[in-house]
Amino acid sequence: MAGKIEFKKEVAKSGKVQPYPYQFTRDFVEPDWRRLPGYKNVTQEEWESALWQKRNLVKNTQQLKQVFGDLITDHMLLDIQRDQQERATMALLVPPQMINTMNEKELQTDPVRRYMLPFFSERDRTWASHPKAGRDSLHEAEMWVVEGLTHRYPTKVLAELLSTCPQYCGHCTRMDLVGTSVPQVPKRKFEHGQKDRLDAILEYLQRTPSVRDVVVSGGDIANLPAETLEGFVSRLLDIDNIRDIRLASKGLMGIPQHFLQDEVLKALDRIAKKAVSRGVNLALHTHVNSAQSVTPLVAKAARKLLNMGFRDVRNQGVLLRGVNDSQKALLDLCFRLQDHGNILPYYFYMCDMIPNSEHWRISVAQAQQLQHDIMGYLPGFATPRIVCDVPFVGKRWVHQVHSYDKEKGISRWTKNYLTSIEWDNPEALNQLYEYFDPIDTLPEAGKKFWEQEAANAN
Ligand code: SF4
Repeated sequence: MAGKIEFKKEVAKSGKVQPYPYQFTRDFVEPDWRRLPGYKNVTQEEWESALWQKRNLVKNTQQLKQVFGDLITDHMLLDIQRDQQERATMALLVPPQMINTMNEKELQTDPVRRYMLPFFSERDRTWASHPKAGRDSLHEAEMWVVEGLTHRYPTKVLAELLSTCPQYCGHCTRMDLVGTSVPQVPKRKFEHGQKDRLDAILEYLQRTPSVRDVVVSGGDIANLPAETLEGFVSRLLDIDNIRDIRLASKGLMGIPQHFLQDEVLKALDRIAKKAVSRGVNLALHTHVNSAQSVTPLVAKAARKLLNMGFRDVRNQGVLLRGVNDSQKALLDLCFRLQDHGNILPYYFYMCDMIPNSEHWRISVAQAQQLQHDIMGYLPGFATPRIVCDVPFVGKRWVHQVHSYDKEKGISRWTKNYLTSIEWDNPEALNQLYEYFDPIDTLPEAGKKFWEQEAANAN
């Protein structure tokens, strides 16, 4: 009889010696909201009610004080208030579900607090905005073929059905359009009513057979009445050429209770069944930036979608300095999504060049390093690509850069298709398109270059 096979190396060491020491853990519990002073009497039934979550959205510093009590200092509250007045591009709006995932004892450094409740003192004082930053930095509205429908790529379009969300992220790339106005940013408004816009979007898609893929977004579809969403997606499914439909909702993570309501589940179930019967791939794309945001309620909502026939639930996070710009933060998040959340890690976007976002942005070089650092740990199909959304181009994997002046922080990129504003200009294919690193990350010579540029512009 063969003897017991001995392991060549000490097994316990195999994970621990790695730069990222992965260890599977079964621990996966909803943080107890009753630990927070403002939620100490909230029942489980209330907590799991979408209506209760929506009625208790945190919209100002007084409400923050009520929730956190003495756990939040006056200094922090004033810092948030000043940010809202002088820097913020998005209004405050945080569901209790997201508040509950913050570490109330470490609010100063908590990753979710850092992007949902920004401090004025955290913004870059010298270069709050990059000189090349813009309100609609991806020029999505310029590429509207009908109001709210961005046709940037050859075969896929982005449909912005509404301009609100159940939560507002400080770094929102659609800060031009999404949310309520803040002192720094009066928001753009849709000119046409929702019904007319949706009809026009569907008509465009009916007469454009080269489009096969629609991202149904906003805003956030969690703020759309279930029957409106169902009606729109059902009509999309009637268009032969539409083969992929991706619903976009950060709310799946921010307020999973919404996706666990009977009428929402029934509407999504009807859509999913119709998609399956038509052979169309229906998926939901969410936006999670930090491991702590993936809780059992989020996993439950994602599982419901998969069980009803959604092909996938995928995550498109945003790389943010001080939030998730490390190998550990990214892999912690990806493993939590993959091991527990029923959500596929898919993309991490570099933060776009919107105003007042310099303190969140990282350089292309750092993004390339992070892509390197996360390779090899996750299954290939669950290893996210880190992408730069290059203005006038679209998503490019960070290693696809054509040329890169690291001193000035200027990367140049090529493209292989025309956006809707270039259909009459094939020369656009022969040009290079620029993205800019945050100035505070540049060497002294690079900082001086931008100081001189700014002086010349004045
Ligand atoms: S959920 Fe998306 S659209 Fe809404 S504020 Fe956040 S990033 Fe912007």
